[in-house]
Amino acid sequence: MDIRTNIPLKNLTTMKLGGPARFFAEIHTPPELQELYQNAVSKQISVFVIGGGSNLVAQDAGYQGLVLRMRIPGFEILKDDIYSTVIKVGAGEAWDPIVAKTVQMNLSGIEALSAIPGTAGAAPVQNIGAYGQEISETLVSLEAYDTSNNTFVTLENSDCHFSYRYSIFRGEEEGRYIITSITLELSKNQPSPPFYDSLQAYLDEHAIKIITHQSVRDAVVDIRKEKLPDPAVKPSSGSFFKNTIVEQWKITDIQKTYPELKSYDMGDGKFKISTGWLIEKCGFKGQLIHGMRINEKNCLVLINESATGYSDLAEARDEIITKVRDTFQIQLEQEPLEIPAS
Ligand SMILES: Cc1cc2nc3c(=O)[nH]c(=O)nc-3n(C[C@H](O)[C@H](O)[C@H](O)COP(=O)(O)OP(=O)(O)OC[C@H]3O[C@@H](n4cnc5c(N)ncnc54)[C@H](O)[C@@H]3O)c2cc1C
Repeated sequence: MDIRTNIPLKNLTTMKLGGPARFFAEIHTPPELQELYQNAVSKQISVFVIGGGSNLVAQDAGYQGLVLRMRIPGFEILKDDIYSTVIKVGAGEAWDPIVAKTVQMNLSGIEALSAIPGTAGAAPVQNIGAYGQEISETLVSLEAYDTSNNTFVTLENSDCHFSYRYSIFRGEEEGRYIITSITLELSKNQPSPPFYDSLQAYLDEHAIKIITHQSVRDAVVDIRKEKLPDPAVKPSSGSFFKNTIVEQWKITDIQKTYPELKSYDMGDGKFKISTGWLIEKCGFKGQLIHGMRINEKNCLVLINESATGYSDLAEARDEIITKVRDTFQIQLEQEPLEIPAS
């Protein structure tokens, strides 16, 4: 096992901020994970697991413990019948190539989640979602190392308490489970309407009439290219804030001043409104504050253009949160998680 020291977290996160991890290692198998974890526990060293670092912000002080980067591979077909195929994917697999592979297999269920950076194992953590799909709709179960009991467990979908950008892994059980594989059940049906508004608009605009898994994937990839800066060129964590979930009265209230406000019916009496739109209405569009550029095409994305450290990002974030709260009486929620300093 190769344990390295003083590895800069800015090289392990797409926001490109953060001081060094005191210890760092990569995990290729579940037994290796258990051994390294227990070894750290016996030395009273804390452990933090990362995947692609695309939904993570690190502190300038770095991390005083052991950072484990998930690399467990695997792609296995567990079941295949005329209706669906069940696949098991290693937590360290890059997410988008898995989507590409399932699309090639004419399977439906995650094609709208194309081009999301990161690993398969992190996908359930915030219940990744885009263009009308969420991983919770296809995830059957997952395998994880339970750090509380030093055992490997299988958690069913219902154990994960999924909701919008939420699961127990970033909620009540944060830090307890290290996911080693996920199992998805994907349908053999063609993708069918209704599609997410912006996806349908793209399909109409490009006169795409025959909707296949591949055409949905291609459309999503194209829309994302237009709206989202490539983190390899412009460092970011994608959306820096969650979209805003409100009740009908709040929409009616905002529409008194902004009749153009759009909302997305969540189907449970709640509605999603675009946080990017709220930030734009507060005048931040395209602005550079504390070294962070508020992306011109999608104000949800904060690009690290010249931030000197975590504190610059925190100041920019707090300025945006305060202005949106004062203007709309809405409290924004940060989407990326934070690596604690110790
Ligand atoms: C340009 C861009 C676009 C994005 N678009 C979207 C989008 O459309 N929809 C969306 O939902 N997200 C989006 N994201 C956010 C991000 O890509 C996803 O949240 C992704 O699932 C994070 O994967 P990761 O491997 O990079 O996780 P990391 O950032 O490394 O980790 C995220 C969290 O998961 C935990 N974690 C990681 N691996 C494991 C594991 N194996 N077991 C337990 N916990 C683990 C970490 O401790 C951390 O708390 C975007 C990000 C970027 C940069």
